[in-house]
Amino acid sequence: MKDCNCIFCKIANGEIPSATLYENDEFRVILDLNPASKGHSLVLPKDHYANLFEIPEDVLGRAAAVAKRVSTKLADGLHASGLNLVQNNGERAGQTVFHFHMHMIPRYESDNMKMSWIPGKLTDEDKDEILSLFS
Ligand code: 5GP
Ligand code: ZN
Repeated sequence: MKDCNCIFCKIANGEIPSATLYENDEFRVILDLNPASKGHSLVLPKDHYANLFEIPEDVLGRAAAVAKRVSTKLADGLHASGLNLVQNNGERAGQTVFHFHMHMIPRYESDNMKMSWIPGKLTDEDKDEILSLFS
């Protein structure tokens, strides 16, 4: 399941060196090269899945457990006042590397991180359409 042209496959499997915070047989956690804040890190599965839609549920569950453990250590050790867990899928959503990854971004009183949207209003039409997908 390795994609030879994928940079995160190479990093996750140790073919390209990285600042590794944690590794097991299934995941590698690395520091982001262009951090949004001090401690910005990425959880990478060693197998290639392009995004949330491709990654199997059991692998995702274990990735989330790794993210929780590493996030806790980062937030405590760096005295962060919060932490965003971010996961982008598709170009429109800001994904630039098409190998599933989770961002752990510690937050501080003054940081350069912006994550905002203009709140809309849930319409009855949208609500009915969406609820019907799950009925
Ligand atoms: P995305 O926009 O796909 O959600 O996030 C990709 C992230 O990977 C970005 O935050 C970017 O800085 C990081 N990144 C891209 N290439 C490399 C690399 O070669 N090494 C590391 N450590 N991070 C990378
Ligand atoms: Zn890959």
